[in-house]
Amino acid sequence: MPVEIIRKNDNSAYDPNSEALGVSNYVTNNELPATSQFGDTNPDPENFRLQARVPNATTNSVQMKLEVKRDGAVVSTTNYTLDKKDGDFVRGPFLRLVTDTNDDAESGDQTILVKLGDKIKVSYDIAAGSKVEQEIQVGRPASESNNEPDKPWKHDIREVKVRIVAVKDAAGNACITDAKVNELVNNANERLAQSGIRLKRTQDTVEVIEPPSKPADDVGPAYTYDQNYRDGHISGHLTSPSEDEIAFSLSKDGDSNSIDIFFVKHIVPAVAIAYYSSQNKTGNPALSNFIVISSDAVRPFTVAHEIMHILLNQGHRNLEPSTALFYSPTSQFKTTAGKKRIGPYPQSKTNNVGDDDTTTMRANAETLP
Ligand SMILES: [Zn+2]
Repeated sequence: MPVEIIRKNDNSAYDPNSEALGVSNYVTNNELPATSQFGDTNPDPENFRLQARVPNATTNSVQMKLEVKRDGAVVSTTNYTLDKKDGDFVRGPFLRLVTDTNDDAESGDQTILVKLGDKIKVSYDIAAGSKVEQEIQVGRPASESNNEPDKPWKHDIREVKVRIVAVKDAAGNACITDAKVNELVNNANERLAQSGIRLKRTQDTVEVIEPPSKPADDVGPAYTYDQNYRDGHISGHLTSPSEDEIAFSLSKDGDSNSIDIFFVKHIVPAVAIAYYSSQNKTGNPALSNFIVISSDAVRPFTVAHEIMHILLNQGHRNLEPSTALFYSPTSQFKTTAGKKRIGPYPQSKTNNVGDDDTTTMRANAETLP
């Protein structure tokens, strides 16, 4: 008899050999009812629930153990009571995978904290000494390739290559610490997991560089970037790039499929600037696909938001939902209601903005626009 414990939002069985669980794009307290009847379905395509076969007709509930495994080790264990019965089977409430502790705190045991690549193992004892179990990954292996918009359970993990550089400040120190960069990368991975995307750093630690050399014909003071970036040329960038922009483009690595992220001490007037390719009118591809971030103003979701600009290859949009990661300015905190979500989710459909974002970003993640 096949073991079909893990069920989709329509109650059909997952096939762990060809399908995976996915991180939800929904606002965490939306469409996650505390209880659901046996036959209830759920609108979130990434919600799932557990089902067990009862050992005999008089049994009305089953205890199921769910473990999250990371690199072979169990990182969390939760027990669920499955007590919505029909015939020989019982089902539990709908469950949802989330990626940060704010979302995980939202709905008790119904939210499960994960990273892409984790494995979810579920098991119960159908009789003394007779265990039934099933295991499924979060995201299909990166070696596969599937981007069907309506089948997130088929999506492979896509990896965006990023090179992270810290420009020295006027005192000669890196303008941002490795620890802070690690935190920002972790925050970005939390957000991008909604689209089955994670960052792949080209180096384990931050590369520290001198401020890029100024052009020979620039008679001003040496660049430090403690006070300014873009050389005062606020308008017209990438139609007529500023000397700063040219200098940074020359500091990129040679890989056209990696995003170079430069931290400087300070940018006027923004927190960060993403140089996505559709705004590059110079004919010089080196002026595309890099990001400059102000280390003294960076916010939790800045890296993920700027990567969205690169992968969507566009600027801000009208009617962006207030819960969208692509909304500007980004949230200061990771609260559940914050600007965290990537389409598709109900608000992207309502506003008709961003519903295709996961599809577009996945298509561009490994071969940049
Ligand atoms: Zn932006």
